Amino acid sequence: MKILAIESSCDETAAAVIEDGRKICSNIIHSQADEHALYGGVVPEIASRGHVEAISAVAQAAVREAGMEFADVDAIAATCTPGLIGALLVGANYAKSLAWSLGKPFIPVHHIRGHIAANLLAFPELEPPFLCLSASGGSSMIVLVRDYTDMEILGGTRDDAAGEAFDKVARVLGVGYPGGPKIDKLAQGGDDKAYVLPRSHVDGAPLDFSFSGLKTAVINLAHNAEQKGEEIRVHDLAASFSAAVSDTLVPRLKLAAEQTGVHTLVAAGGVAANSRLRADLEAMAAGFGVPVYMPPLSLCGDNAAMIGAQAYYEFLAGNTGTIWQNAFATAEISEKICQKHGIAK
Ligand code: ATP
Ligand code: MG
Ligand code: FE
Repeated sequence: MKILAIESSCDETAAAVIEDGRKICSNIIHSQADEHALYGGVVPEIASRGHVEAISAVAQAAVREAGMEFADVDAIAATCTPGLIGALLVGANYAKSLAWSLGKPFIPVHHIRGHIAANLLAFPELEPPFLCLSASGGSSMIVLVRDYTDMEILGGTRDDAAGEAFDKVARVLGVGYPGGPKIDKLAQGGDDKAYVLPRSHVDGAPLDFSFSGLKTAVINLAHNAEQKGEEIRVHDLAASFSAAVSDTLVPRLKLAAEQTGVHTLVAAGGVAANSRLRADLEAMAAGFGVPVYMPPLSLCGDNAAMIGAQAYYEFLAGNTGTIWQNAFATAEISEKICQKHGIAK
């Protein structure tokens, strides 16, 4: 089964054709990052307009690169939640209109389920159940993936997402947008013990965590240094901050494995591209004697291939939507998002 998938939840307009949830036939990503960099972050209205301009050409390119015509695809999928609502609506409306006009099924997909499914493209042997550390720009959590479409959040951030923390710290240090990759690069060769930064814990909820204290600590540090006229050692601070993020996330994934007895570990989301986090996950899994799967860097950030992978399993589970399907700015990963009827309950 070949699915044409569309992703437009943030500032990437993307389309891909995926076969049976596992094979990438094409994967086109049109990023608006340069445009948003002028403003230091994603401007929702600019993102929506950018998607409108790009979506037809991107979808056509995906089908062409797969050596197909629109009529050859078996179903159309789109990210319907979570994300910027205006941005989501462009992709969702494009996809469901196309599906309707072709008489093919439409499959609404949860973006974070998609991030997790990026691993299914990279690792043919990977099957649920597994535990996933999902860390991206909008959320950070530990998810028990019982089955391809059956997920439970075991713990997560009480405030900022990991990617959000990277982006804010990058802004404070004046290293530009998007911040995560820049901080990652600066951290290379930095001393990760040079700055003492907090590691959060939440009383009574050992799998939960927080990044706002860490973020504030870095902001205060930068402001104090500025007031005193001291130089910030940017490489050292980037390394110390990256270590603090990793130290917050990795032990919780390990604890979740101990608590649940699920010993297959997976990482997902834009922050899964972080080199410190990847190294620490490898080391933890090796010490624990369990496998850890991490998407290749090309599939960590937003793309439509991951949406097409998850869409296949949603289709098998009967989770198709109608022409009445809506998009939502937020929805839990555990929720059923497909709307069969015109009026949402
Ligand atoms: P969400 O997926 O939660 O809706 P999003 O789609 O905006 O949010 P992603 O595209 O999954 O987020 O990931 C982008 C985030 O990942 C940004 O916050 C970015 O700074 C961060 N990121 C990307 N690469 C790295 C890296 N190498 N190190 C740390 N963070 C990174
Ligand atoms: Mg982006
Ligand atoms: Fe994302």
